[in-house]
Amino acid sequence: MTVLAPETSYEVTIPVVVVGAGAAGLCAALAAREAGAEVLVLERDPVPRGSTALSAGLVPAAGTRWQREAGIEDTPEAFAADILAKAEGEPDPAEVARVTRVAGPALEWLADAHGLRFSVITDFRYPGHSANRMHGLPSRSGEELVDRLREAAERAGVDILCDAWVTALHARLDGRIAGLTLRRPDGTEDHLGCGALVLACNGYGGNKALVRQHVPALAEALYFGHPGNQGEAVLWGEALGAAARHLSGHQGHGSVAHPAGILITWATITEGGVQVNLEGRRFSDESHGYSEQAARVLEQPEGLAWTIFDARIAGIARQFEDFRQAEAAGAILEADSIPALAAATHLPEAALAETLAEVARLKAAGATDAHGRRFAGSPPLVAPYRAVRVTGALFHTQGGLVVDDAARVLRPDGSAIPNLFAAGGAACGVSGSRASGYLSGNGLLTAVALGRLAGQAAATAA
Ligand SMILES: Cc1cc2nc3c(=O)[nH]c(=O)nc-3n(C[C@H](O)[C@H](O)[C@H](O)COP(=O)(O)OP(=O)(O)OC[C@H]3O[C@@H](n4cnc5c(N)ncnc54)[C@H](O)[C@@H]3O)c2cc1C
Repeated sequence: MTVLAPETSYEVTIPVVVVGAGAAGLCAALAAREAGAEVLVLERDPVPRGSTALSAGLVPAAGTRWQREAGIEDTPEAFAADILAKAEGEPDPAEVARVTRVAGPALEWLADAHGLRFSVITDFRYPGHSANRMHGLPSRSGEELVDRLREAAERAGVDILCDAWVTALHARLDGRIAGLTLRRPDGTEDHLGCGALVLACNGYGGNKALVRQHVPALAEALYFGHPGNQGEAVLWGEALGAAARHLSGHQGHGSVAHPAGILITWATITEGGVQVNLEGRRFSDESHGYSEQAARVLEQPEGLAWTIFDARIAGIARQFEDFRQAEAAGAILEADSIPALAAATHLPEAALAETLAEVARLKAAGATDAHGRRFAGSPPLVAPYRAVRVTGALFHTQGGLVVDDAARVLRPDGSAIPNLFAAGGAACGVSGSRASGYLSGNGLLTAVALGRLAGQAAATAA
């Protein structure tokens, strides 16, 4: 990934160019178009997908009308406090305030101006959120989110050029971006001028060398995000002298069905399920969060665990397309009794029975276990049981380019590169430097919130 000197002139110059057609890029494009700019989105894939399409498409936001309709009291300040608590105060409070303030209005804008049918999830809550604030489209899938955003962008007159891999930026001596090089699948290259550039090409989860460097604990883990996310934003930023922060921050997930490779919603845990290793023993406070659970699962024998829950919890989990797919793929086992569960999972029966008896006792007593998990108010697990074999995976990286209130990319001295913007996984997130700092939804939060800010400001800068 290189930064080159600018051409003396470009045959074609577009006012606002966006690199990447995931949630961040498409939100930026919609906002820039709405602000009156001509916009071109460049996407390396044949069809816009990105990690956005792999996600559950749930975007956290506080103070929305969907929350008010459901009688949920929430504020951006309460949301910001939850983010800072989960990341133990590591993220910049100003950055957290920025995205939590912008997220609610951004979702209402996508609904009102662009027809995205959001609703708020009210039947379960992700760890660390003090209110129900996850918003999703009807299928609760990221594929629907990216498809609806793409359709909206096309309707709004945004040009999306697919099979267009941006391989180099062209910068002037003062850092201003003059243009870029894009490569087509047949190897031909085009040079394009731009007035402003939005980096929305996510992080470096697909780049093994960068993962090894910044997230060594997951260097050998399954990468469950989009392979095209190769870290160009950070590499270009480095070459341009931009500031990057919290590069070891990431979202892991301790519940990817193995070998089916399907995300199993963490509602299976928050609603009262538990994880055991191949010895039939629990090994952690699963309720702390799915992100940090990735490394814990990978530390277990064979890097595997079984998530055990019941039919009631399966009923809640079934609202997710992924879970329905896991059921259809036969990844979710059913058993009428603990001996049948042990037989179906090949877990040692005595150990499994002992573990589940202890869980039942903790739940009945509303007690806290030795790992620190609080079982107060958690309904008992009852037959028929469900079980799914899972592994830990890296979902996406959370470190990235430092941006200001207008999503402009900053240098270490705080000055901005005037016409360069970053959003979503290309920008530094709000999770700090550790997996445990990731509060559910931090990924799409910065994609939607910074995407909108970047698009609005890029239109002005162009
Ligand atoms: C399985 C899974 C589940 C998740 N669930 C959730 C969830 O429910 N809620 C949540 O908030 N977050 C979730 N996340 C995280 C979330 O998906 C990401 O944080 C978010 O999608 C990032 O959006 P983005 O637009 O920055 O990146 P992406 O959606 O990855 O889009 C980036 C795009 O840039 C393109 N690109 C990359 N490099 C170039 C280049 N050089 N030239 C041209 N194009 C390029 C890529 O092909 C891609 O299409 C999940 C992630 C995974 C993997």
